[in-house]
Amino acid sequence: MLLNGKKGLILGVANKRSLAWGIARAAHREGARLALTYQGERLRGSVEDLASQLTEPLVLPCDVTSDADLDRCVAQVGETFGQIDFVVHGVAFAKREELEGRYVDTSREGFEVALDISAFSMTALARRVEPWMKNGGALLTLTYLGGDRVIPHYNVMGVAKAALECSVRYLAVDLGPKNIRVNALSAGPVRTLAASGISDFPKMLEVVKERSPLQRNIDLDDVGDAAVFFLSDLSRAITGEVIFVDAGFHNMGL
Ligand code: NAP
Repeated sequence: MLLNGKKGLILGVANKRSLAWGIARAAHREGARLALTYQGERLRGSVEDLASQLTEPLVLPCDVTSDADLDRCVAQVGETFGQIDFVVHGVAFAKREELEGRYVDTSREGFEVALDISAFSMTALARRVEPWMKNGGALLTLTYLGGDRVIPHYNVMGVAKAALECSVRYLAVDLGPKNIRVNALSAGPVRTLAASGISDFPKMLEVVKERSPLQRNIDLDDVGDAAVFFLSDLSRAITGEVIFVDAGFHNMGL
């Protein structure tokens, strides 16, 4: 029970395949009480269904492009729980047309949308949860190797992940004095709703299986268990890091 008594807010559960759901499951198993968010009414039912597997869950709407939504969501979680010990940011979005063809053809609007939802939202969230992390805390986001290297078709999402990973380092410095740690898990490819928008995604799965040291793809349990470490006191001296949960793939020459 590594998270016994801790209270956490998890953004980015769309369905049972979401990486954020893998983390929610593992955090619940380790004794945490959780708040889950959904972006719009469309997803409310499926998030409520999943949340019914948790103990005393809080389920509330939050579109990260809306300052008012972020304000309301964090305040409601803080007031209900009394404090927030950890936050998981599992949110990303780019328009489908930006995830095929050439990066050089990215539109201004496509760039702004991807960076706003996938990168800025982490900073917007961190600022709001800071006052509720009364005894320190842990912030964790999800990133991908495409933020570091050019991965075919990842395009503007790679640029957004680079901004997100850099934000992790700046946030770690700002929030470190309050014992709030900020880290990112760089997950290998997993078939999810967001991943289905990337052209040639099945090829990415194949390449990892073929070339990673562990010769396999990763799953939600791999991500959930790694997340528990970063959300728990076991990682108390680690902040500002991007940690790969990718069966070792990022170390291989392409
Ligand atoms: P997912 O299940 O589709 O989760 C993405 C989540 O982002 C969804 O819940 C989505 O809600 C939410 N979202 C998008 N725009 C939002 C907004 N404006 N406000 C609030 N929420 C919004 O896909 P996933 O693969 O688990 O993605 C989770 C994170 O893991 C992302 O950061 C992704 O880049 C990262 N990641 C994924 C992989 C992979 O291979 N799957 C690998 C490495 C990293 P809606 O469905 O309502 O849009």
